[in-house]
Amino acid sequence: MKKIGLIGGMSWESSLVYYEIINKKVREVLGGFHSSKCIMESVDFAEIEKLQHKDDWNSLNKIMVDSARNLENAKADIIILCTNTMHLCSEEIKKNVNIPFLHIAEATGRKIKNQKIKKVLLLGTRFTMEKDFFKKILRDNFGIEIIIPDKNDREIVHQIIYKELVHGKIQSTSKKEYQRIINDSINNGAEGVILGCTEIPLLIKDKDINIPAFDTTRIHAESAVEFALKQ
Ligand code: GLU
Repeated sequence: MKKIGLIGGMSWESSLVYYEIINKKVREVLGGFHSSKCIMESVDFAEIEKLQHKDDWNSLNKIMVDSARNLENAKADIIILCTNTMHLCSEEIKKNVNIPFLHIAEATGRKIKNQKIKKVLLLGTRFTMEKDFFKKILRDNFGIEIIIPDKNDREIVHQIIYKELVHGKIQSTSKKEYQRIINDSINNGAEGVILGCTEIPLLIKDKDINIPAFDTTRIHAESAVEFALKQ
């Protein structure tokens, strides 16, 4: 079994879920007493959040590269970055380590394509919905059309992530807002929705919506296990 290196803490609420999914998947596949060989480099999210909202991506690149190098030095065989937003730093990470980096949008794109879905709503932080780093991979590598909520609804989605979900607060009023936004997108032709922030699956479950949900946390964590268990 290969050793999975996780860059976590963004937020720890979802890093916890990664750890659980990875271990459950290893047990499901190998059975018995098996569990995942892994190591997590967990950052202080207060520092990260401040730099994100100052748009200081140079400093964020440096923190992510340092974390990735620490994992490489700790003999990880693969790196996964346990947040969609911070994949804005993925190019810098890839340039600075010699072990594979499993991109969250690549793993998600493969899953959507397997289900033959062509048009999806993307929910995530403002950075993920508005910048191109995530959408480009789905569009160019998998031919998937992405729609995002209008400006007002993007703000609602973003604020719920930073004011509630990363603090572990789950509110039924916020769930209703997400459901309304997803239902609007169905009227605009969305065949599925990408839960493109690793905390959104804490709020929205399959049973809450009428179209397939692509849970990036689960998809990413399970792809890492697939890599780790490949002969
Ligand atoms: N975990 C979130 C994501 O998947 C948001 C927190 C962050 O900015 O990293 O985008």
